[in-house]
Amino acid sequence: MPVPTLPIVKVRMPPADVLMPRLAEVLYGGMIAEGDHVYEFERRFAHHFDLPNALGFSSGTGALHVALLSCGVSPGDEVVTTSMTAEPTNTTILQVGAVPIFADVSLDGNLDPASVEASITARTRAIVVVHYAGYPAALATLRDIADRHGVALIEDCAHALGARYDGQAVGTFGDAAIFSFQAIKHMTTVDGGVLVLRDPERVREARKLRWFGLEKGVPRTEIDISRAGYKYNMTNVAGLIGLLQLDDVDTALDKHKLNGRFFDAELAAIPGLSVVPIAPESDPSYWIYTLLSDDSHAVEQVLSEIGVAASKLHRPNHLHSVFQPYGRPLPGLEAFYRRLVHIPCGWWVGDEDRARIVQALRKG
Ligand SMILES: *Cc1c(COP(=O)(O)O)cnc(C)c1O
Repeated sequence: MPVPTLPIVKVRMPPADVLMPRLAEVLYGGMIAEGDHVYEFERRFAHHFDLPNALGFSSGTGALHVALLSCGVSPGDEVVTTSMTAEPTNTTILQVGAVPIFADVSLDGNLDPASVEASITARTRAIVVVHYAGYPAALATLRDIADRHGVALIEDCAHALGARYDGQAVGTFGDAAIFSFQAIKHMTTVDGGVLVLRDPERVREARKLRWFGLEKGVPRTEIDISRAGYKYNMTNVAGLIGLLQLDDVDTALDKHKLNGRFFDAELAAIPGLSVVPIAPESDPSYWIYTLLSDDSHAVEQVLSEIGVAASKLHRPNHLHSVFQPYGRPLPGLEAFYRRLVHIPCGWWVGDEDRARIVQALRKG
């Protein structure tokens, strides 16, 4: 009998009997685009995750684009960023005409603060930090670097919903932060995202940038666009799905965290494997589990034999031709990527699954 594959990422939807009647109400209710479900979702999301505010977007990428604009990133500015991430972290930097400066990463795959500081020049406008795979980056140090150099800190929290640092939610350290509700993230609205802005003054402008540059609620004939915006609004359909997801998102997040902590404890002692160092102030939300191995290919093989998916999942962004002009030596990233292998640790990984993963890796 073929063993079914345990995937690294998985879509999580509310049960059909909960979702479908509510969805039908919205779909046939006459208000399918931006409306009250979006605004309620924004309020509840911000409250649930201890964020100062949340603006709903059609994607995390759209939110990131507006985050950069809200922080004043303009053509020709430099943005210190990481290559060890999904591509939207960096395509949006190109989108605003800025120059990505790739700083190196530490042993956990996150930005190395020393390399960030060394990458700052007079042209630096912002630092974009990713909490890679759900492990919080060194936020206190990065906040301090940003303040000392007078540049913005933008948190890409797409992998890190529910993660905390120093007892505080990720997304509250940056001048701006984004979350993604793309299909395979911790929670999904099919596609969607949220922008969090520390300064309430910037929220109104960001709301306009989300909607062509127009103020919502003002009659279209009486309104003036002073700055071209985009079409990045969240829909009521996505907002409703988001609201229903929030009802039990903690169940999923707890499972990610329990499985992650289990692997931290069980896998570190296996010869040839290591787990990433986690600072005492860091509470990761383990979107995917980061395992490091001298032979990452062998780990993929061993797990594939028991029907468990394992892979590097991402491609360091500077390897793409579009980012080649910005390539620089990244020895820390190279070492991390060579040893990297992600394994599943989400809500769909049961106690038996995780036990057989550990057993297979012990046998080697
Ligand atoms: C998913 C993701 C985003 C944004 O994603 P959308 O698909 O646009 O919601 C941004 N950064 C990272 C690191 C991501 O993984």
